[in-house]
Order: sequence, then C-alpha cells, then structure tokens
Amino acid sequence: MQHYDLIIIGTGAGGGTIARKLAPTGKKILILERGGYIPREKENWDTREVFLNARYKAKEEWSDKNGKAFHPGIHYAVGGNTKVYGAALLRMRESDFGEVRHHGGISPAWDIKYEDLAPWYLEAENLYSVHGLRGSDPTEPHETAPYKLAPLPHEPAIGRLFSKLEKSGLKPFPLPVGFRSENDQNGSPVTLDRFDGFPDPTESKADAHVAGINEALKYPNVTLQINSYVERLVTGEDGKEVKSVDVIHNGENISYSADIVIVSAGAINSAALLLRSANDKHPNGLANGSDVVGRHYMAHNNSAMVALSTKLNPTKFGKTFAINDFYYGDDEFKYPMGHIQMLGKSDALMFKEDAPFFTPDFVLEIMANHALDFWMTSEDLPLPENRVTLDKNRNISISYTDNNLEGHKRLQKKLRSILDNLDGGLKILPKNIYLGKRIPIAGTAHQCGTIRFGSDPEKSALDTWCRAHEVSNLYVVDGSFFPSSSAVNPALTIMAMALRVGDHLIEKLK
Ligand SMILES: Cc1cc2nc3c(=O)[nH]c(=O)nc-3n(C[C@H](O)[C@H](O)[C@H](O)COP(=O)(O)OP(=O)(O)OC[C@H]3O[C@@H](n4cnc5c(N)ncnc54)[C@H](O)[C@@H]3O)c2cc1C
Repeated sequence: MQHYDLIIIGTGAGGGTIARKLAPTGKKILILERGGYIPREKENWDTREVFLNARYKAKEEWSDKNGKAFHPGIHYAVGGNTKVYGAALLRMRESDFGEVRHHGGISPAWDIKYEDLAPWYLEAENLYSVHGLRGSDPTEPHETAPYKLAPLPHEPAIGRLFSKLEKSGLKPFPLPVGFRSENDQNGSPVTLDRFDGFPDPTESKADAHVAGINEALKYPNVTLQINSYVERLVTGEDGKEVKSVDVIHNGENISYSADIVIVSAGAINSAALLLRSANDKHPNGLANGSDVVGRHYMAHNNSAMVALSTKLNPTKFGKTFAINDFYYGDDEFKYPMGHIQMLGKSDALMFKEDAPFFTPDFVLEIMANHALDFWMTSEDLPLPENRVTLDKNRNISISYTDNNLEGHKRLQKKLRSILDNLDGGLKILPKNIYLGKRIPIAGTAHQCGTIRFGSDPEKSALDTWCRAHEVSNLYVVDGSFFPSSSAVNPALTIMAMALRVGDHLIEKLK
C-alpha cells in the first residue's frame, strides 16, 4: 500500500484550499477526487446544456424522506461545486458565531468566535481574489485591512437600480466576488458574463480548481488522482486511527495510507463516507459516538426571484451588489430575515422550465430581456431529524423538512414592496408576474452541518480544529463542520476554516 504524509479527499472549497495551503510544506500529499476535469468548451456557457440537460451535474439519484428519487444539483469535478458557484464570497457576521434567536427557533452558538477565524477570512479573500469594498456592508464584521481588489463595476442598468435603492433609504453595497482579474493583464480583458451556475472557460472565476488545486500542483510533492471515488476509511483494530483509504479508481480497487487523512467531500458525501466506514469500534459510522454524523443537515432557505421591468435590461453580468438591511430583522419583524444579492442575468431558456408549456418562445424572450434577477438567502436551523443517511442499497437519502420559513417569506415580501415602490424609471409590473421560486430539496448548493464541530464530544463529531474526537488522524474540512448556517453564502467560511486547519497542521507536522 502506498503511503503518504497526507491524503486529501475532494477538491472543492475545503479540499482545494487546504491542498494549496499545505503544498509548500514539502510533505508528500495525495489528493483524491472522484470526478475529472470539466472540459473548457462552448457548452460551458450554454443554458440548454448546463441547466436543461444538466451536462455537468453528477449522474446519480438520491432519495428524499418519502423514498422519492431526485437528481441532486451537485458536481463531481476538480474544483467541486466551486466550478459552478457564483463566487459571492462573504464572511459570516460576528453575531452568527453566537446564539441567534429566530422566529422558528434558536440557531446555536459556535464554539469559536469570529475573531478566531478572522485572520483566515482575510487570507481566503486574498487567495480567492475577492473584489469588494470594506465598510460598505452595514452588517459586515470587523476588519481593518481593506480588500486588495476594488469592487467589480456595475453595468449601467444595475448601477441605476443600485442608485435608486440608495435613494429609497437602503444601503446596498458592492457584492464581494472572487474574480481573477490578473487574467486581464495578458492584454485581452475578460468580459464577465455567465458565472453563477456555469463553469467558466476563461478561468477568471476564482474557484477551488484554478486558485487552489492548480497552485498546489505546482509543487512536486503534490499528486492529484482524478476518477478516484473514496469508498471507505478503514481504521486499525483499536479504531483510533485511519489506516487505509479504500478507493475505486476507474473500476479498480486501490488502498492508500497516510499519517493524516483530510476528508473534504462536501457535507453530504463526507457524512455518507463516514457512515459507510462503520466498523466494530464505530458501529454507527466512523467517529460517530455522538450520533451527530449525518444529522443537522442545512442548505439555507434560498429562493430566486425575478422582477420584470418595463425597461430593457441588457446586462451581461448582474451579480455586483447585495442588500443586508434586513439581515437582523426590522421594526416590524424583530427576527432575522436574511440576505439579498443580485443573481446572474437570466435568459429565455431559464424561464422555460417554469413557464406553462403553451408560452410562446418570443414571450419568454421578452420576459428575459426585461428581467432583474435576485437571490435571497435566509438561515435554516440545524434540526437533528434533518439528516443524511444511507438507504438499504447504501445510496444517499436526505430527510429534510423546511423550517424557520417566516423570516424568508418576510424577506421576499420586503423585496417585492421595495421594487414596487422604487421611484421613476424602473417600473415593476404587477405582482402576479413575479416568478418567485423556492429552491427544492435537489438544491443542495449550500449543504452544511452534517459533521458538526465543537468542544463537547457528546454533541459534536469534530473538535474546533476539525479533527475527529474519536479518530486522531482524521480531519474534515468542508461544509460539514458548520454548527449553524448563518444567512450568507458558505464558501468563504469553508475556505477560511480550511486555511486555519492548514496552519494548525503545519505546526503539528514541524
Ligand atoms: C450553482 C451553485 C452556485 C453557488 N454559488 C455560491 C456563491 O456564490 N457563493 C458561495 O459561497 N457558495 C456558493 N455555492 C456553494 C459552494 O459552491 C459550496 O458551499 C462549496 O463548494 C462547498 O465546498 P465543499 O468543500 O464543502 O464541497 P464541494 O465544493 O462540493 O467539494 C467536494 C468535492 O469532493 C468530491 N467528492 C465527493 N465525494 C467523494 C468521494 N467519495 N471520493 C472522492 N471525492 C469525492 C467532489 O467531487 C468534490 O470535488 C454555490 C453552489 C452551487 C452548486
């Protein structure tokens, strides 16, 4: 069996980032990724291929709590889900690390504070080329260092909307976005276009493949093996250390060993891997004496909303501002509502899935040309019964019941009423032609919480350095560790934690 100093499983926000961090140590590192490289091809930006034909999504089915099969919105590739993410890279608010009282219940405190993660948030922002403006977001956490890169400019229609929102008394702010503008220095500038939901053939989106894995692979001590599905982690007889990582590589079984094994397969697949790895010493799943592995699954209360303006909106890249005025609630509703950000510009094909079958294409085209696209995120709560399990065929099953929806509904209403009341130029059509869509269970984009961390081994599977309480050489650095989900996109927090754990390991390996 080939031995390494470190094995990293998965190349997404967690795995790609920690690989980049650990590469300069000179340690012998093996990165195992079940997917391959997403080809750079014209279909990357083709809505029909990407959305309707699910060209880059995993070809597998999971089941819901009623045993009904669904096709998850998940991507197995070098870079993981960051290959298609929107690269909106926000820090959690300081208060999100404490206990937060919601309309639907309590969001628990983390056993670390914002200050414990802050230095690595900054490092992650720099590594992922985040463009932003410190001090512009009314709820942003404390940080003295500015963003290194200036905010992305608004296209004219988005800029006009931004000014109108400001005039209405709100505090919209430039959305922090990970964009490798250094690519522009080659002489031919990159025009931002499709981004959120699409792979980026220009490789200027700062994803975990280009900013993490590619950089890590510049070091000769780092090896990436693609098409390598990790099926099981095997411990020694005493159950205290992982002794073997069992892999199916192009249909062939291979095992590797390492001093340290870092799991970062994404919150759902990492939980499934630990559950698959049950043995005599860990009958409920590896490192699962607390029975939390797979539980507390969260994915946010997310919805997309499209407002149709009477004016044409020829924007290519609309994802340049956000609104946090209602993050903590308002005078009428004293509980958190959540976060609003612009989405990528929709096109006619994106409406097709939702429209009645008889809607003529030219109507869809007109709608798309007038669309303003918004994304709303509110916190869902970590309920133990919302969980990932394996069914009798060892396939993934997700039992999830919606919760804490009132704040999200209020946020949707708020946005509608704000847009209705905006002054002049932007005339919003009557409410019945808004298309509001709650993201269903297949929307696993913001998955987190399934292997929570904390100081108490009775209530958490990982310690606050993301090491398994019960297995001394096992770490988990992906969205699994979140004890609560906050209401901002998760990737920057995953990246920051991967860097923090990376520094911890560097000290340990000295
Ligand atoms: C359309 C879309 C838009 C998004 N937009 C944003 C955004 O704007 N901002 C933001 O913060 N977040 C966004 N997200 C979410 C963000 O992409 C995720 O939070 C982040 O990628 C999670 O990182 P991770 O390391 O936990 O898992 P992933 O990125 O999912 O990486 C897991 C990796 O593990 C691999 N893997 C899984 N199982 C195994 C196995 N058994 N063996 C070997 N390898 C395995 C997978 O192939 C994958 O490469 C978006 C997600 C989607 C889908």
